[in-house]
Amino acid sequence: MRFPLGKSSGEEKSKHPESSRKNFTVPRPIHAEIDLHALRHNLEVLREKAAGRTLWAVVKANAYGHGLENAVRAFEKADGLATIDLCDAERARKAGWKGRILLLEGFFDATDIEPLQKLDVETVIHSPWQIEILRAAKLMNVRCHVKVNSGMNRLGFLPVEVDGVVDMLDRIPGVSVMGVVTHFANAEPTYLGDAPASVGRQLTRMGRLAQTGASSCMANSAGILWHPEVGGSGVRAGVALYGVSPDAHISSEELGLIPAMTLKAKIIAIQEIAPGEVVGYGSRWTAKRRSRIAVVACGYADGYPRSMPDGAPVWVEGQLAPLTGSVSMDMLEIDVTDIPAAGLGTEVELWGKHLSVNRVAAACGTIGYELLCALARRVPVSVKEA
Ligand SMILES: *Cc1c(COP(=O)(O)O)cnc(C)c1O
Repeated sequence: MRFPLGKSSGEEKSKHPESSRKNFTVPRPIHAEIDLHALRHNLEVLREKAAGRTLWAVVKANAYGHGLENAVRAFEKADGLATIDLCDAERARKAGWKGRILLLEGFFDATDIEPLQKLDVETVIHSPWQIEILRAAKLMNVRCHVKVNSGMNRLGFLPVEVDGVVDMLDRIPGVSVMGVVTHFANAEPTYLGDAPASVGRQLTRMGRLAQTGASSCMANSAGILWHPEVGGSGVRAGVALYGVSPDAHISSEELGLIPAMTLKAKIIAIQEIAPGEVVGYGSRWTAKRRSRIAVVACGYADGYPRSMPDGAPVWVEGQLAPLTGSVSMDMLEIDVTDIPAAGLGTEVELWGKHLSVNRVAAACGTIGYELLCALARRVPVSVKEA
């Protein structure tokens, strides 16, 4: 008999993220599968919804956990990449990205100015201290997008300050102002239109800055999907590009999106336990009947939240098995008493194509975004091409 955990012959060998060194060992049976076709498909869906506006593909947080290099390949047809720091911009350039790159929060320090220009990266300007840095620097050509605080109260200048800021920037040699950007706090349909920071209210605060013809980039995924009234010249698509609905109450399928990340791990042990027996650290879960408990090679050190409660769903052989007991660093346990097909070596899905990451996230009170980008470095990633 073949050892049930061995890789089947046709299976692609996963690349270990921490072993560019030539190891002859392979990691344990867990991997995240990244579907490039899904990423390309989602880009087309968003492209259509963006209706001619410049489409920035947001690739922050290692492309929401999908791997920046994978995103660079799949989003070849995007108009630009948007990210958070210059290290990511450098990585994107090294991966062959020749198009535009935007720093969503702009630069962080005077020492960023030189690499900013070398890498040909555009920057958001959200605070007076950034203008001071530009004034004091030797500039060739720095393309700036002025961030407007339209009601989220996180980053940006007030709409009434924008003319003055643009004026100041225009007077700095080597600076060109590309337009304004703002960000919506609540573009999901579950947020009510008359609540304090609705898209409608934020647009009102933007005033003429948001009107047609204005060079403005406002909509995130939710804005693109659900607010056709948001105009502007550009959009910034993030989570939807990865096939995940920005609103947990609406499914990817309804939006025509395909989840691009599937996290899978194998069952490495089975315990048959009697009623009254308990499972895992803290003995949180107690068997009410004779139970078949499967131990899965995925734990919180892989990015599966330790805060996950009993009953959280895991997809196994076409059914959902409930989590039983607290998640360990490297393992978790599920009840497969009612899933006889599940056994040693069975691959389960933690989230992905069959089980939406939003549903899993909701079980522990968070959103899909957080689980995607918390995928740990030690999880091997395999890339599916077609
Ligand atoms: C992350 C981010 C986006 C993308 O948001 P999604 O909800 O993932 O589409 C757009 N704009 C800014 C400023 C962001 O930080």
